[in-house]
Amino acid sequence: MDSNTRTPFDCVAETYSRFDLTIAKGYGTRLWDENGREFIDFTSGIAVCSLGHCHPRVVASVKEQAQKLFHISNLYWTEPQLKVACSLVKNSCTDRVFFCNSGAEAVEAAIKLARKFGHETRGPDCYEIITLQGSFHGRTLAAITATGQPVYQRGFEPLPSGFTHVKPDDIYSLRLAAGERTAAIMLEPIQGEGGVRPLTDEFLKAAREIADSLGALLIFDEIQVGMGRTGSLFAYEQTPVEPDVICLAKGLANGVPIGAMLAREKAMKHLGPGSHASTFGANPLACAAAGAVLDELTETDLLDQVKEKGDYLQTRLKKLASRWDKVVDVRGRGLIQAMEFSSPQMDLAKWLMEKGFLVLVAQGLILRLLPPFVVEKDEIDLLINALEEYMAR
Ligand SMILES: *Cc1c(COP(=O)(O)O)cnc(C)c1O
Repeated sequence: MDSNTRTPFDCVAETYSRFDLTIAKGYGTRLWDENGREFIDFTSGIAVCSLGHCHPRVVASVKEQAQKLFHISNLYWTEPQLKVACSLVKNSCTDRVFFCNSGAEAVEAAIKLARKFGHETRGPDCYEIITLQGSFHGRTLAAITATGQPVYQRGFEPLPSGFTHVKPDDIYSLRLAAGERTAAIMLEPIQGEGGVRPLTDEFLKAAREIADSLGALLIFDEIQVGMGRTGSLFAYEQTPVEPDVICLAKGLANGVPIGAMLAREKAMKHLGPGSHASTFGANPLACAAAGAVLDELTETDLLDQVKEKGDYLQTRLKKLASRWDKVVDVRGRGLIQAMEFSSPQMDLAKWLMEKGFLVLVAQGLILRLLPPFVVEKDEIDLLINALEEYMAR
């Protein structure tokens, strides 16, 4: 490229199809662009800033930590990391936490744990991981292979071996796929990127039973739906099963990059010293943010609010859908809700942006709403009004 005509936009890899919008600051549910134009955020930075942008408790905690210590590596202990680990363990069915920096890395850690666990408990031929079609587990080579959508894999072959995909909610296929080689079954209790699709209780119970009967692990990828998004700290709490391993990232530190792979002792004991590592993993700065998020979620009534506001959002969407012939389904739990259309509404996200709302739309077909937990009912009403206007065009 001619360096005289190169703009700052040309200096960034073109891996994302971005909106023509530069965001300069945010507070709560509101975002402002560089010219001061205001938006109501129904994306939370893709399920990340769940407490709202620049949440005062998180800002205070990060500020205080920034004056003390940014980073020290995992050769030493730090208080902020211990605090986050304790809180995650105390509030879940797991015993220990491995920290990293993103969702894909948490999935990668779970895959490595499953293989090590399989090798050491059932032999070197036990390495296969069963995941679901339509799933999303991240963008590293192993994570796109686990992901049950060929669109993320094409062109990146050869993919690592040892993964099979079955249809969501198809207990028969899961039974057929599972066997001596199965080290783990990995799934999202509600598929997020795949279009907000909750798995049935029956399927989750079957997955638990099959894993138990084989001595395999049940891994829940809660990177999108954990950390309060569905109205409980973990999504599994609203299902009839408990997983052996939980992957977290997105909402864990309200915008500071962090990932975590939580596991029961029976599994985690197979990852001994030297078996896995991350330089940045849970550094004090990220953990100062995550600690504040966990305090806020466990000490306030925010999770009840997520349930209540989620019900309100779903009720309003369903009422709108009953008068909109292009809508085929409304579904979700807590503050992850989706409205599915029968035909692509390619201009919907852009149209709503012009009206002052940021939303997520998948394949033009599925409107995905993930507002910060501090969203107010009148903000939900404003979005519904805008959708009504869109419908009436
Ligand atoms: C976003 C997401 C990931 C990947 O997280 P990154 O931080 O983008 O690597 C993995 N699994 C699920 C369910 C996700 O929603």
